[in-house]
Amino acid sequence: MSELLDGIYSVVYRSGEHRTIQLRTPEAGKPLAGKRILSYRQRDDWKGFGFLVNDTPNGKPAVAFWRKFRAENAPKRLERIEFAVRTILENPAKAGLAYALRENRCCRCGMQLTVPASVAFGMGPECARKRGWTKEDKLKAFEWAKSQVPDVTVQTDLSYGPLEESA
Ligand SMILES: [Zn+2]
Repeated sequence: MSELLDGIYSVVYRSGEHRTIQLRTPEAGKPLAGKRILSYRQRDDWKGFGFLVNDTPNGKPAVAFWRKFRAENAPKRLERIEFAVRTILENPAKAGLAYALRENRCCRCGMQLTVPASVAFGMGPECARKRGWTKEDKLKAFEWAKSQVPDVTVQTDLSYGPLEESA
């Protein structure tokens, strides 16, 4: 399991449906600075539901739902969200690529990508630089992405409904 960096990740279910989750860490001086905030996409907006925490009994990162969110939502729905986050944690690179390929957007900042080469590995040049990627890293990512393209789908027989509230 690799570390989950700030970014946007999609889980694509076998049915073709997909769910998108963002991890973001506000900078010092901003509200909730240093906390790792998880949101899901609700239409064109992001709906925060909790933090990603590492201090769990088994040492693995997990979702800590906000008390209000937990109180207002059915356990089934919370489970669904946890499942999506766990799936992303299993392979963040794949989930980031799934997002980028579906949306033509950078999986670090969400900006529209116009250069096909960037889309092909899921990140804009500025974000690749911020993540410290060298030219070789980019090439490697590109080769890896090519090998993933036929299948960025999460193979599961479980039927999972939407993360967002039904409107
Ligand atoms: Zn970006």
